[in-house]
Amino acid sequence: MFLLFLLGILFFAYWYWKKNTKLKSIEIPTSKKEFNDKAKTINPLKAEIDWKHSKAHLELLKDFHFGRDIRDYQNANYWKAILKESPLITINKFISQGVLIPTTLNKKIEFHSTVNELKIMLRERGLKISGRKNELIARLIENNEQEMDDLYRIYEMYSWSEDVSIIVQNYIEEQKNIKQTTKNSVKKFLEKKDFKQAIKTVLEYESQDVFLQEPNKSMFNIRGDEEEILSFIFEAIPPIFNNIQLNDIHFIRVCTGMMYFFGENTVRKLLPKDFINGSHFSNDVVCRMFLFNARNLQKLKEYKKFGLKEIKVLGTNDDLTCSECKKISGKTYLIDNAPQFPYHACTCEMGCRCEPLPITDYR
Ligand SMILES: [Zn+2]
Repeated sequence: MFLLFLLGILFFAYWYWKKNTKLKSIEIPTSKKEFNDKAKTINPLKAEIDWKHSKAHLELLKDFHFGRDIRDYQNANYWKAILKESPLITINKFISQGVLIPTTLNKKIEFHSTVNELKIMLRERGLKISGRKNELIARLIENNEQEMDDLYRIYEMYSWSEDVSIIVQNYIEEQKNIKQTTKNSVKKFLEKKDFKQAIKTVLEYESQDVFLQEPNKSMFNIRGDEEEILSFIFEAIPPIFNNIQLNDIHFIRVCTGMMYFFGENTVRKLLPKDFINGSHFSNDVVCRMFLFNARNLQKLKEYKKFGLKEIKVLGTNDDLTCSECKKISGKTYLIDNAPQFPYHACTCEMGCRCEPLPITDYR
């Protein structure tokens, strides 16, 4: 009898333990329903995160400025590496802590519908179609809020709650200032041709970046030998730009360095007002070509180091390719006799896109 009683207790203990561990384990939700169920089961106290002091979490919150559908994060492995857990779980915690709140119906409609779509909906309901977008939305909601709510229920959009908004906006502002300060000092170092300090400043800045601290770092860090690239930028002049004044070339080189470090598309803000470079290309194209030239010179140096003798010109052949570039596309050259890229005779408006490809000969 006593033995039976003991067995009973053991069985009960086992069942109780099993039940609890089941509750504790958090799995990545896959469907919308499962996601909602999970949101309910997670204990908000347990989920407490110190997001105000975590760059990774603040970066994730940035995405929610104008409202965001949480299902966008279902396969976001990229975030998983940074947050150390599935972004859906983090978002779930944010929701249970009131950091993220469901967006209003107005915002959902604004985000997911164009003015034309709204006008079609208004017409179908026999309503006036004039007015601004927000007026159209208000009219549809006023007409039948429940109907609109049902129509847009499929979108699971969340955005910042009010006090979160202040903190995240401050964070964004602060990051912007840090980036600008970094850029200013890198530009000063480049002007003085102090490449070592310029590189050091960029590396220090990047070491603060949560996205660059993770395994996908190699994806971003494709610059290669920085000092060598900079010296090519500041020492070589692509033959195509032989007619640019040396004085102006220094400005171009500093801007090219900035383009290289910060991936800028335009150097408009970096150049003196009314700067004219003296070639038939725009300032942005000239800088891009200087960078292109430096990269290609580095490539050729590498090829030679590996004992390669020949290159083949990989050219583009579209409507934007000039006749001179078309002529050399596919041609083979001995490395020592190869033209410099950008090609000196190129007249492509967007700049030369010919590239030297190594020819490996295993015969
Ligand atoms: Zn061309």
